[in-house]
Amino acid sequence: MGWKEDDRMAAETDEDVIAALGTPLGYGAIGIVRLSGTGAIELADRIFKARKKETMLGNAPDRVMLTGHICSINGEIIDEVLAVAMKGPRSYTRQDVVEIHSHGGILAASRILERVLQEGARLADAGEFTKRAWINGRIDLAQAEAVIDLIRARSVTGMSQAVKQLDGALSELVKDLRQKLKRLMAGVEASIDFPDEVSVQEEETLKGDLQLLKKKIEDLLETAKAGRIFREGLAVVLLGKPNSGKSTLLNRILGAERALVTNVPGTTRDLIEEMVSIRGIPIQMIDTAGIREKAGIVEALGIEKAKEALDRADLVMAVFDATVAFETADRMVLNLLENRRGLILLNKIDAEGQMLDRKRLEKEAAGLKVLEISAQKGLGMKELEQALVAQVGAEHLAAAPAIINKLRHQKLLEEAREAIGSALKTITTGGTLDCTAVDLWEAWTALGGLLGEEVSGEIVEEIFKEFCVGK
Ligand code: GDP
Repeated sequence: MGWKEDDRMAAETDEDVIAALGTPLGYGAIGIVRLSGTGAIELADRIFKARKKETMLGNAPDRVMLTGHICSINGEIIDEVLAVAMKGPRSYTRQDVVEIHSHGGILAASRILERVLQEGARLADAGEFTKRAWINGRIDLAQAEAVIDLIRARSVTGMSQAVKQLDGALSELVKDLRQKLKRLMAGVEASIDFPDEVSVQEEETLKGDLQLLKKKIEDLLETAKAGRIFREGLAVVLLGKPNSGKSTLLNRILGAERALVTNVPGTTRDLIEEMVSIRGIPIQMIDTAGIREKAGIVEALGIEKAKEALDRADLVMAVFDATVAFETADRMVLNLLENRRGLILLNKIDAEGQMLDRKRLEKEAAGLKVLEISAQKGLGMKELEQALVAQVGAEHLAAAPAIINKLRHQKLLEEAREAIGSALKTITTGGTLDCTAVDLWEAWTALGGLLGEEVSGEIVEEIFKEFCVGK
């Protein structure tokens, strides 16, 4: 039995008043204390004195802000505040919710929170408000997960994906898949009861429908790679000899003089890491020490450092110096690129005395795309940007209705895909309809998991643990 059946019942008694700060502690304009649960409004009214006599949160129109004071047990004023009550079910948690907006700073909101706790509220656990919203059916689990993505978003695209997911884009897609699956399941069940009446044509239709469903799941799974990137950022490692222009390129990309640039080989000693956003994709740029050749031998330290960085790389940008002939260290750089996603950049194309050209590099790099750039003059940067975005496969994704950005979702979709694949195999090999029905049931359950149906308590704990207190 899944979470909802047994625990949702128990959760219905989860109506005690919880409270938390809704804003971070620190110097800001306002601080917000949030309450939710049965009796939240009455509790707030015990400590809130509206400026307008006789007015209370309990008898004021719903969702109207009142001006007043929060008072201590002795009746002293703690702060001047705005307070608003949102009666359930028209609230974030579907329970009675109160928000008290105090002055910002370290003390005001926390003293009010203390006061609320004194009156019998309990300090909320991380994510407990959102958990209640889910338990009470206002949002499904995929939407609850989007809340944390929204808060943590590091790029505009990542954020807009989270907003879409919160709005139910992914949930709608999954619900639609489930609805189609359910119709097919009903058909199969009916055929089990009357096996003699199943025509070849019906079987073909079922196969076609299942293939279509599988394709839709595969399309959604396709977005998973880019989905992770939008959430966590793309790790791009700069690789190349000292003096090839890595720092200059990094600065060009960052648009600021952050990495030290000199013409003494080997100045960028340690890994330099910076976040940038290129066309909405969060990118973590990692500059390496440089692969250096000394007396004909490539320095081991540089290679070790580079390898360390390469292990974390989603993409490698290998920088080559057009003013120096191809040498052992360059070969080493190309070797390090093997089996990795990489872009080859031929830098300094603006300089006099070209010793390495694109043709030669293309030959050495066997098949990898070579871009000609000048980090110093900013030449070829548009093409570089384009190639970068293309590497992520992100061009079409901004417009995608939903993106898979969680391992949990990916695994469930993979399960559903496997189950449908297995159903198709059963039909093709003339297996029994009972087996098909079992497979379809599995796919149905896996898809349900995305919405929070039939998920285990541990998974729920795992998800809400990531939240901050007060959300
Ligand atoms: P790194 O050691 O790979 O980080 O290389 P730097 O970025 O420190 O650059 C080494 C030298 O090459 C510096 O003197 C840069 O000004 C110069 N340089 C970098 N990029 C270019 C370029 O596109 N054109 C020219 N002409 N010089 C460049």
